[in-house]
Amino acid sequence: AAPAAGPQVVLVTGGTGLVGQGIRSFVEGAGAEGAPEGETWYYASSKDGDLRKAEDTRALFERVKPTHVIHLAAKVGGLFHNMAKKVDFYRENMLINDNVMGMCREFKVVKLVSCLSTCVFPDKTTYPIDETMIHDGPPHSSNEGYAYAKRMIDVMNRCYRDQHGCSFTSIIPTNIYGPDDNFSIQDGHVIPGLIHKCYIAKRDGTPFTIWGSGTPLRQFIHSHDLAALTVWTLRSYEEADPIILSVDEAAEVSIRDVALMVAEGMGFEGEVVFDSSKADGQFKKTASNAKLRSYLPDYKFKSMKEGLAETCKWFIENFETARK
Ligand code: NDP
Repeated sequence: AAPAAGPQVVLVTGGTGLVGQGIRSFVEGAGAEGAPEGETWYYASSKDGDLRKAEDTRALFERVKPTHVIHLAAKVGGLFHNMAKKVDFYRENMLINDNVMGMCREFKVVKLVSCLSTCVFPDKTTYPIDETMIHDGPPHSSNEGYAYAKRMIDVMNRCYRDQHGCSFTSIIPTNIYGPDDNFSIQDGHVIPGLIHKCYIAKRDGTPFTIWGSGTPLRQFIHSHDLAALTVWTLRSYEEADPIILSVDEAAEVSIRDVALMVAEGMGFEGEVVFDSSKADGQFKKTASNAKLRSYLPDYKFKSMKEGLAETCKWFIENFETARK
């Protein structure tokens, strides 16, 4: 069934982050395809309420009165941050997710789309990973706090459907990149970290040093593609079970290739060094987008070369104000 007719209020939690801002620029830029007349979109930040707190979450829902929710808010970070703060990643995400789901039920939200991640899948698995395999074994120990908290979203989506008839579902993006990311070298994800490092190497005339061997393989999705597919999920995907939002398997790239594309995007011509004494994380996490392709066989993703060049340009132009 299509989402309820009539004016709708879409609350995007974590609306000021990488994915939230991607959705905003998609919805505001896409005209009729994005936000039809009568729809209001509200992009919440932590300043609108700390979702770890039940009373803040309730106040936000009372104020916005959402009919639909895209739940992105989370404590997120890269490999090194996850390894150092497992308890924080578990507890904060559990609190945020429990509060948001509880309020969505209470406020009779028509549809809730929450956000998982491919790094919540079992460490020991067969490839490609698909949506049915989330709970088939323990996640990689480097991010077990984050992973178990995220996995519980999937469990609770089914529980809320069974006990309360709620239309809750989730998306599973692969690694995301784009404008408005957190470009912290210490706590950020690989692409924004590489872009920031390359910026400094170019500015200071030093080598561009990449942590790890460069051999791990990853699938990256540009935040604008993820935005388009998330809005599609909200409007048209009716299953409770999650859907992987990823580029095709053939679009998997090595970290080395990404680093070289970043160097090109930044116009860096100095020495590129791979520091193999630093941890690599999982060698690969290849995900299947067969389910997505069964719904949207012709969707065309932005190429990495183009997406990275744009993101490098964005970082250079917004260096003073970018999160870093
Ligand atoms: P960002 O770090 O860019 O943004 C996080 C957002 O969550 C911000 O809007 C932030 O608000 C908000 N937030 C964080 N803590 C709280 C809190 N306690 N209360 C209220 N709001 C809070 O994250 P992304 O956009 O990268 O991630 C969005 C979702 O996508 C997350 O669920 C993440 O797990 C998932 N994901 C991300 C991937 C990636 O590669 N980035 C990969 C796969 C999944 P504020 O701006 O005020 O701090």
